[in-house]
Amino acid sequence: MGDYDRGFSMHTVSERFMEKRTDNISRIDRLRADRTLPREQLRLLLTTLSEEEAAYLYKNADEVRKEHYGEDVFLRGLIEFTNYCRNDCLYCGIRRSNKNADRYRLTTEEILDCCDKGYVLGFRTFVLQGGEDLFFTDEKICGLVSEIKKRHPDCAVTLSIGERPRESYEAFFNAGADRYLLRHETINPVHYRQLHPEELTIENRVRCLRDLREIGFQVGCGMMVGSPFQTVDYLMDDLYFMAEFRPHMIGIGPFIPHGDTPFHDRESGTLQDTLHLLSVIRLMNPRVLLPATTALGTIHPLGREMGIQAGANVVMPNLSPTGVRDKYMLYDGKICTGDEAAECRRCMELRMEKIGYHVVAARGDSKV
Ligand code: SF4
Repeated sequence: MGDYDRGFSMHTVSERFMEKRTDNISRIDRLRADRTLPREQLRLLLTTLSEEEAAYLYKNADEVRKEHYGEDVFLRGLIEFTNYCRNDCLYCGIRRSNKNADRYRLTTEEILDCCDKGYVLGFRTFVLQGGEDLFFTDEKICGLVSEIKKRHPDCAVTLSIGERPRESYEAFFNAGADRYLLRHETINPVHYRQLHPEELTIENRVRCLRDLREIGFQVGCGMMVGSPFQTVDYLMDDLYFMAEFRPHMIGIGPFIPHGDTPFHDRESGTLQDTLHLLSVIRLMNPRVLLPATTALGTIHPLGREMGIQAGANVVMPNLSPTGVRDKYMLYDGKICTGDEAAECRRCMELRMEKIGYHVVAARGDSKV
C-alpha cells in the first residue's frame, strides 16, 4: 500500500470524526435553543459524547444556570429525622428488611434544635427527610412544620417523607410546608417493578407528585443514575417525563450500592453519566433547582464542585446531629457523617468559593 492510500484512509476517518463531533456540538446547541431533542438525537448525545463535547455541554449548562440564578448556590439544611421505613425498596440501606440498620428517631426538640442552629449558620431552607415512618403521624408532622415556621418565618420548609394520601399533603401545606421532594426513580413501570416491592407502583408515585403540585407545593422529583437494570431508553423516558411535568426541583445522583441490600454487588453509577445528565437536565429545564448531591460527592472528592460546574445550583449540607449521621445510610460510603453542622457549612462555602460560586443565605425559591 502506498502513502497515498494510507493518507486517503486517514482523511476519511478524520472526516467522519469531525462529522460526529459537529453533530454532537450542534445537538447541544439545538438542545439549548429548543429545550428538547428528538429521541434519536437525544440518544446519540447521551451515548457518543467525547470529552471535548462533554466540556461544551457543561459550559452551555453553566451559562444557562447563570442566566437565571447567577453564581449563587442555594443551601438546604438537611435534617434526617428518622431512619425507620415501612417500605422495602431494593436499593435502599434503610429498607424495612435490613435487620442490620441501627434505627433512630429524633425527638421534636432535637429537630427544632437542628433548625435553630442552622438558622444561625445562615440556612433559610430546612429539609425534613426520613423513611416512610408512620410514627410521625400527620398531626406530628404538622405540629413540627408549624413550630419551625413560627420560630423562623423567613425560612422555607421542605418535606421528604414519601407517599401519603392527598389529605395528608393538604394538611402539611396548610401547616406551612412549602416544598416536597419525592423522587420518582424511574417512570418506566417495568423498571419501577425491578427496583421496588409489589406494593409500590409508579402510578401511585405520579399520583402523589400531581397531588402535591395541585395543592401548591414546589415539587421535586428525580432518579438515580446507573441504577440496576436502567437503560438509555428508560433514562430518556425520565428526561421527557420531567420536561413535561415541569417540577420545581430535580434531584439526581449516582446509584451507589449498600452492602445489606439485594443490590449489594451491583456497579455504582458513574460520575461522568451523572454530570452529563445534570447538564442535559439544566438545558431541558433552565429554571429548575438542581442539587449537586452528597452521592455525587461520595463517588468523587470533587463531585459536588463538578456538579455545580455542570449546571447544578443547590447543595444540601447535613444539619442532623452527628450522633445519628452514620445511621442514615441509604448507600455505602456516604461522606460528611462526622462533621458538625458549622463545619459542613464552612466547608461547603470554601468549596464553592474555590470554583468561583458563592453560597447564599436565602430561601432560594424556584423560578419555574
Ligand atoms: S427509598 Fe425511601 S421509601 Fe424506599 S426503603 Fe428507602 S427510605 Fe424507605
